[in-house]
Amino acid sequence: MIKILANDGIDPIGKKLLEEAGFVVDTETIPQDQLAEALKNYDGITVRSATKLRKELIDQVPNIKLIGRGGVGMDNIDVEYARSKGVAVVNTPAASSLSVAELVFAHLFTGIRFLQDSNRKMPVEGATKFNALKKAYAGGVELQGKTMGIIGFGRIGRETAKVALRLGMNVLAYDLYPAEGTLPLTFQGGVSVQIPFKTVSLDEVIANSDFISLHTPFADQPILGEAEFAKMKPGVGVVNCSRGGTIDEAALIAALDSGKVAFAGLDVFDNEPTPAAAILQHAKISLTPHIGAATNEAQERIGTELASLIIEHFNK
Ligand code: NAD
Repeated sequence: MIKILANDGIDPIGKKLLEEAGFVVDTETIPQDQLAEALKNYDGITVRSATKLRKELIDQVPNIKLIGRGGVGMDNIDVEYARSKGVAVVNTPAASSLSVAELVFAHLFTGIRFLQDSNRKMPVEGATKFNALKKAYAGGVELQGKTMGIIGFGRIGRETAKVALRLGMNVLAYDLYPAEGTLPLTFQGGVSVQIPFKTVSLDEVIANSDFISLHTPFADQPILGEAEFAKMKPGVGVVNCSRGGTIDEAALIAALDSGKVAFAGLDVFDNEPTPAAAILQHAKISLTPHIGAATNEAQERIGTELASLIIEHFNK
């Protein structure tokens, strides 16, 4: 009987599919320092982003034949090393793209009407200073007709572009690998249209966008730093639902304080799970604790996809 440890949990649908296929699935979370011992009783492990599967651990559990990552980023797994030892490593890259893209717009709608600040102030001052707050939060803007800049035009970048297009926005996109093609948009009643796109340079995106959203993988160097903020339109809104490290947080705070950037929406941070207080407490930053993929729909898709990858692997 094949045993899988779902150490960071798995959606119930994924567990059910695996059990129906005859697998044993344990969902208790074993602490990192006890994993080497615990994993001796399993054939495979699934993780999200919390559990780390580094070389040393992989070496201690040669019985593990498969590592499954529910989601996209595999920064927590020494993927190449695991594969060199004959361990299959699988993930579910597309399952959460739409959820992350929608979170970008949660941050954008928040920022353009100052919700990040009014949600903090109204519970404290709403009953005594209602009219003053009403005045403070006037001057919002609309998204329709504005230009959405997208940096990193892969799965999530393209889903973000599709949501922007549905809202009547213009899209400017940059990717390390220039691309040209069409984006399919489907509306009520199954009506479908293909919108042509062609990526442009990073400078064009930075200089001409009203809002900028990052969708690149983790990088050693930030993509948006002081020089890039300086080239942006005054009053731009910036969203990061990709990975901490892609924005220089100190430069972002300076740009928010100077008014160059009107607001930021952050789902990811330099120092997770303990982001800097200057970021957490900033009145112009809308915050979410790395929940881009954390919708019921995305988790169901992730669980279903992961289960079928595991079944396929062990039944080969
Ligand atoms: P993807 O691989 O489909 O797309 C990434 C794109 O970025 C690729 O087209 C690549 O060519 C491009 N790219 C790489 N380096 C670049 C650079 N320096 N400048 C411009 N473009 C660059 O990945 P995806 O599925 O779209 O995921 C994008 C990011 O979102 C990843 O960092 C992933 O970890 C993150 N993510 C976050 C959450 C969340 O919960 N917030 C959930 C899922 C994924």
